[in-house]
Amino acid sequence: MADIDFSQIPHTPMYICQEALLEKNLQLLDRVQKESGAKVILALKGFAMWSTFDLVGQYLHGCTASGLHEAKLAREIMNKEVHTYSPAFKEDEIEEIACISDDIVFNSPGQFHRYYDRVKAINPSISVSLRVNPEYSSSPVDLYNPCGIYSRLGTTIANFDKSIVSKLDGLNFHALCEQNVDALEGVLEAFESKFGSYIDGLKYVNFGGGHHITRTDYDVDRLINVIRDFKARHNNITVYLEPGEAVGWQTGPLVTSVLDIIHNGMDIAILDTSAEAHMPDTLAMPYRAMIRGSGEAGEKAHTYRLGGNTCLAGDIMGDYSFDAPLCIGDKLIFEDQIHYTFVKNTTFNGVKLPTLAVWTKNNQLKIVHEFGYEDYKNRLS
Ligand SMILES: *Cc1c(COP(=O)(O)O)cnc(C)c1O
Repeated sequence: MADIDFSQIPHTPMYICQEALLEKNLQLLDRVQKESGAKVILALKGFAMWSTFDLVGQYLHGCTASGLHEAKLAREIMNKEVHTYSPAFKEDEIEEIACISDDIVFNSPGQFHRYYDRVKAINPSISVSLRVNPEYSSSPVDLYNPCGIYSRLGTTIANFDKSIVSKLDGLNFHALCEQNVDALEGVLEAFESKFGSYIDGLKYVNFGGGHHITRTDYDVDRLINVIRDFKARHNNITVYLEPGEAVGWQTGPLVTSVLDIIHNGMDIAILDTSAEAHMPDTLAMPYRAMIRGSGEAGEKAHTYRLGGNTCLAGDIMGDYSFDAPLCIGDKLIFEDQIHYTFVKNTTFNGVKLPTLAVWTKNNQLKIVHEFGYEDYKNRLS
C-alpha cells in the first residue's frame, strides 16, 4: 500500500483520507458481518466524509444518524439503511425524519408516546426502537460515557414502560468508547440481565458504537463469537453494530505547515492549523496526537511547543521533539486525524477550515472540498 506523496500537496492545512486504508477497515468490518451475521452501519457522528460513501456503501449496510441533518445526508448520499436516533426529536422535524428513515430510535418512553402514531402514519414500514441505558460502562472518560451518573442517554430499567414493548421492533444501547470486546461482554451481561425478557419478539438489537474493531489489538474473533452466541440465545435475532471511529480509524493525516518559530522560555512553532478548531478531541478528551518523525519533549535533539493559529492561549497541540530544527514552511503530519475531527470543526476566530482530500487507491491526490471566507461568513450574520 503506497503512502501519500507529500510533495504533491498544493497547500495546507489538509485532511487526507487514504482510500486504501479506509477500504482495509471496511473489509475487516465486513468480515465481522459475514462471520457473525451482524449488520454494520456507519455512525456519521464520527466520520462523515461523504465523498467516500460509494466505497463505504459497498461494504456496510447504511448509516446511523443523530437527527435530521445526518439522516438527510445518509439518505441523499449513501441511500442504504438509515437509522435515526436523537436524544429528543423536535415537532417540526419529526415528519421529515420519519419519511427518510428506515428505523427510528426513541430515547425515552415519553418521546415514543409523543411521536409513535405520527411516525407510523407517515411511514408505515418504519421500524421503531427504544434506546435503553444498561447502566454499565467502563468508558474511560466521563465526557464520553453514555452510562455515567445522571445520563440523559437511553432509558433505564426503572423508567422502562412495558406497555410499549408490543410496538417495538428493536432495542438499542450505546455504552462504549474506544473499547475492546471484553467491555462489550460486560455491557451485554448488564443489558440482558435488565432487558433480556423483552428481547424475544423483537426484530433486532443494536449494540451501538464504541467498538474499536479496526485497532490492531482488538479481538475480532471473540467479537464474532459474542455476536453468534447472542444470536443463538435469542432466536437468531438481527444484531446491528454502529461504529463511527472504527471506520475512520487510522485512515489518514492532517497535514499542516510551520508558519513561524519564536522563543519564549522555550522554542515555539506556530502552525497553520488549530487544536481547538481542527483537532478538538486533543483538548477535550484530551489526547496527544502523533506527529510523524517526532518524539516526546526532550527525546530528540530539538524540542518545540506546537501552537495553533487562533488567538486562544490554550490552542496548543503539545511539546514535541525532532531530529532536525524545524524551519518555516516545513510540513508536519498529524497522524490519524480522519475520525471526530472535521465532523467537529468550527470556524472559530475565522481560521480557515482545512481542505478535505482523498488519497486514491491509484495514488492520486483528489481534493474534494476547499473552504474559504464564505464558510465563515455564512455561519454568522
Ligand atoms: C457516537 C455514537 C456511535 C459511534 O460511536 P464510535 O465511538 O464512533 O464508534 C454509535 N451510536 C451512537 C448512539 C452514538 O452516539
